[in-house]
Amino acid sequence: ILQIQGLRKHFGGNEVLKSIDLSIAPGELVFIIGPSGSGKSTLLRCCNRLEEPDGGSITIDGEDLLSPRTNLNLLRQRVGMVFQQFNLYPHMRVLTNVTLALRKVRRMSADEADRAGLAALERVGLAHKARSYPGELSGGQQQRAAIARALALEPKIMLFDEPTSALDPELVSEVLLVMQELKKTGVTMVVVSHEMRFARDAADRIVFMEHGVVVEQGPPAQILAALPGSRARDFMTDAL
Ligand code: ATP
Ligand code: MG
Repeated sequence: ILQIQGLRKHFGGNEVLKSIDLSIAPGELVFIIGPSGSGKSTLLRCCNRLEEPDGGSITIDGEDLLSPRTNLNLLRQRVGMVFQQFNLYPHMRVLTNVTLALRKVRRMSADEADRAGLAALERVGLAHKARSYPGELSGGQQQRAAIARALALEPKIMLFDEPTSALDPELVSEVLLVMQELKKTGVTMVVVSHEMRFARDAADRIVFMEHGVVVEQGPPAQILAALPGSRARDFMTDAL
């Protein structure tokens, strides 16, 4: 569904992505792991043009995302993104946060947007909080609302950048559980996360990055079965 080829990005003299090749299949749950500064966030951000790559190609269902003619609003509906910080508008109700883009970008009527927004909140188990304000929600609930906001746009793929890193430990599992439920309904997801146990148990594939390159990738069992000394295996085991 998503094809990345020869993707390159530098900041000044710092080559952050050095010819990344990666393809994601429909319904796949892929974890990207690797040391701090290895380029994980930059890779995700290139996929919806929050960063402009220097070269290479990214296509989704064969459509070129890097063309100068690509409509960025449309692209960001197709490629949903969830960040560490939830970025919800505090003065708007949860449902309004979720329906905002549906009304402004999708041009849905208020009724139509509310129906789609409630359905998305339902999928993350938060329909009962639709009328609340973000400040009245726990961190885990706020992150689930942010996930619903992305889902409501019916993206082809969802990208998560450390979705649980800002959460108190006891709130992490509810967000991971939601991601597992989404996988069951066929949502394609790429997740940057340090939740190594979740990666081991839930991922179809793990991609290990270091210094801007994909060093190793494979199913969790295959990565873990490598000999000690394998960078990806050691990185994973250290965090388990
Ligand atoms: P972490 O695990 O700490 O989140 P990461 O793998 O997500 O790390 P990136 O955030 O992609 O790493 O950063 C990769 C490199 O690019 C780092 O050296 C970082 O300092 C640099 N970098 C990232 N964004 C920018 C920017 N906007 N301007 C300059 N340098 C940047
Ligand atoms: Mg990062």
